[in-house]
Amino acid sequence: MTHRVLILGGTTDARQLAERLAGRVEFTVTLSLAGRTANPIGHPVPVRSGGFGGAEGLANYLKEQEISLLIDATHPYAARISANAAQAAEQTGVKIFALRRPPWPRQPYDRWTLVADAEAAVAALGSHSRKVFLALGRQELGPFEAAPQHSYLIRSVDPIEPPLGVPDATYILARGPFALEAEKALLVDNRIDAVVAKNSGGTATYGKIVAARALGIEVILFRRPALPEVPAADTVEATIAAIDHWLASERGV
Ligand code: NAP
Repeated sequence: MTHRVLILGGTTDARQLAERLAGRVEFTVTLSLAGRTANPIGHPVPVRSGGFGGAEGLANYLKEQEISLLIDATHPYAARISANAAQAAEQTGVKIFALRRPPWPRQPYDRWTLVADAEAAVAALGSHSRKVFLALGRQELGPFEAAPQHSYLIRSVDPIEPPLGVPDATYILARGPFALEAEKALLVDNRIDAVVAKNSGGTATYGKIVAARALGIEVILFRRPALPEVPAADTVEATIAAIDHWLASERGV
């Protein structure tokens, strides 16, 4: 018997997990994306795209598609879909695992200011003009229009359309991973004195944090949101081990 698996993705971890499970005869895997990125990277399994319509919609999808295993491998700041996944799994009795990258721990010489959200980041930047590197998603940029005194360097995967309503903003289109030396050069060349970012964990986007530490630059870091309590692992490897354990128990081994 093959298990139908739905991976909620939008992360490198989700893609790697899909790659690993794709080769296994016990599983038929579908990866789900929110559909925000215009040209997502190719995936090794069939992809469905777009919201489900809340926890209820996801529960219906799980039933219709006869999913027996749901894996929440979304970004640690994608709190709504994680809450919906936990609720839909509970409602349908579908087994759920989460793959959650642990946050980067604060190191000596890190100059971190922790904030709840973009509005709080704007407040933390203060009233004097600064050169700010915004390493955030498109959806979080709006509040920075309330602080037009700063110069912004904005890096995103897709173009910011319409551009931010501030007089001084420079846009870079790029997709990680980002190497440390290039991140250092970016901060130095643009005379950045504050980085605004999320504590995403993992290695792909850690370069800017290490670069800021080395250069003594302040990092205004969003606190992680609360996530539902479901069985969770913090690496692709550990998630596969948890899935195998579950598979063995399903077979009564
Ligand atoms: P969110 O606030 O938790 O979710 C908002 C809504 O988007 C959900 O209620 C759901 O709509 C839909 N959605 C989110 N992820 C989905 C998925 N994998 N498949 C299908 N529908 C999904 O999420 P977000 O922060 O906007 O993130 C959206 C996507 O980008 C996620 O896949 C996440 O892994 C990825 N991502 C997020 C960040 C970040 O910083 N937030 C960073 C990198 C990648 P319905 O309620 O209609 O089902």
